[in-house]
Amino acid sequence: MFYSLRTKLTFWYSGVLAIVLVVFSVLTYSFIAYTQEQLTDDALLEMATAFLNSFVSEIQQGNDSQETNEVKSIKDIANETINDFKFKDYYFFVYDNNKQIITYSEPILVNSTTDTLFPFLLSELPNLIDKSESKQSHFYKTFIINQYQVRLFLITSQVEKQPYTIVVTCFLNDQKKFLSKLKYIFFITIPFILVLASIGGWLLARKSLSPIVVMSQQAMQIGADNLYERLPVINNQDELGRLATIFNDLLERLNQSFEMQRRFIADASHELRTPIAIVQGEAEVTLSDPNCSVERSKESLSIIQDEAKRLSKIVEDMLTLARADSGQYQIRFVSFYLDELVADCVRTIRSLSSKKDIKIICEIREEMLFQGDEVLIRRMILNLLDNARKYTMPGGIIQILCEKQKDTYVIAITDNGPGIPQDAQAHIFERFFRADKSRSRIDSNGGGTGLGLSIALWIAQTHKGTIKLSHSDSFGSTFTITLPIQNSL
Ligand code: ADP
Repeated sequence: MFYSLRTKLTFWYSGVLAIVLVVFSVLTYSFIAYTQEQLTDDALLEMATAFLNSFVSEIQQGNDSQETNEVKSIKDIANETINDFKFKDYYFFVYDNNKQIITYSEPILVNSTTDTLFPFLLSELPNLIDKSESKQSHFYKTFIINQYQVRLFLITSQVEKQPYTIVVTCFLNDQKKFLSKLKYIFFITIPFILVLASIGGWLLARKSLSPIVVMSQQAMQIGADNLYERLPVINNQDELGRLATIFNDLLERLNQSFEMQRRFIADASHELRTPIAIVQGEAEVTLSDPNCSVERSKESLSIIQDEAKRLSKIVEDMLTLARADSGQYQIRFVSFYLDELVADCVRTIRSLSSKKDIKIICEIREEMLFQGDEVLIRRMILNLLDNARKYTMPGGIIQILCEKQKDTYVIAITDNGPGIPQDAQAHIFERFFRADKSRSRIDSNGGGTGLGLSIALWIAQTHKGTIKLSHSDSFGSTFTITLPIQNSL
């Protein structure tokens, strides 16, 4: 279960989501805490400035009233200012230049926070003022006493040539409470969201991967005997649809190649059966006749010899194609003159054609230096020449033309045989195909195997060339071989 793709996907998805949520929460928490701190500091600064301005104007007013004999002490002035600045969370402390407290804000609500913080602040602030004298005239500071927090802003300023120190404090309890609630919300909601997302992710992964389950079940059922079956393609636009299509294409290719092999084996056994039956029949008839004459025995042996030759040719051709198919055929590339090879093949065919009184005209227009397997090229040309010889009627003509065309060598072989029927032309390069089986078998040389053109085509393709039936009608056929001059094999 833990190794299933579905579970792995769910783990990955949940893991990534967990990281995202934790990072988001930490960033949000830090941002809010930082913003709160900034807002508090801004508020403290504003409060202190406003208080100082008010205090200065109260002192100036006190000085003016001296002329009308209404003398106010600095403590009265400070108290009046403090009374104007009464807030729930902000408190003011005013010190003279001897660090003696002049006055401070009375807590609006007396509670455990004020009970703890006020005595502490009153005892701690003179030390702080001492320290500030040697450093700056204003600064911020945070105190943590028990579980309470207080942020203060201290500023020392000259008022009517007298230095006064104003301290504004802000109790941070509400802010801290808000932050701890936020933390609490994150701690509760993140695991909850993760559990929900994991369940959702698991269901989603199951739904998305369900076509794979169906595909694998279907694929398990496909074997050699039902290779025609295909996987279901639900949506050929998505990845799984494409995978199913590719798999189906693979099955199609496998099926075709299986089909080819089956046909090849069936055709091969059919081809082998006839000569074997003839050999068996001839041997049985001759051996079972006690009065068999020497002439009859010789005739039988001659028939058996012809069929044995034919069998050996079929087996040799099959072996060549089997090696070609498996890529095991050792091809030996050498440099040779194609024109000389063609002339040599023509000589061989000429001696075989003499019995049929066939005229052979060979036109070689130039030297044709070529790189390739000489033995295979010879076999290809001989296969075509032999076909031309076989199908040309006695007294007919075979024409061979060799020339260079752009970057290819072209060899065209034309006979004036009966031609190849239109419907058979597309199949002549298929294995064991014969347009007219009866005619092939009665050929004086034991008939064709139906593999000659397949082998010729394979040889041409191996040399990056082509071979095609360029023309055929009732007056004859032309086969054209093209081979690249620069054979880079
Ligand atoms: P085969 O050994 O039977 O000649 P091939 O593969 O060489 O086998 O040829 C396949 C078939 O193509 C032949 O059986 C024949 O029907 C036809 N064919 C090939 N060459 C010629 C040709 N020059 N003239 C007429 N038919 C031809």
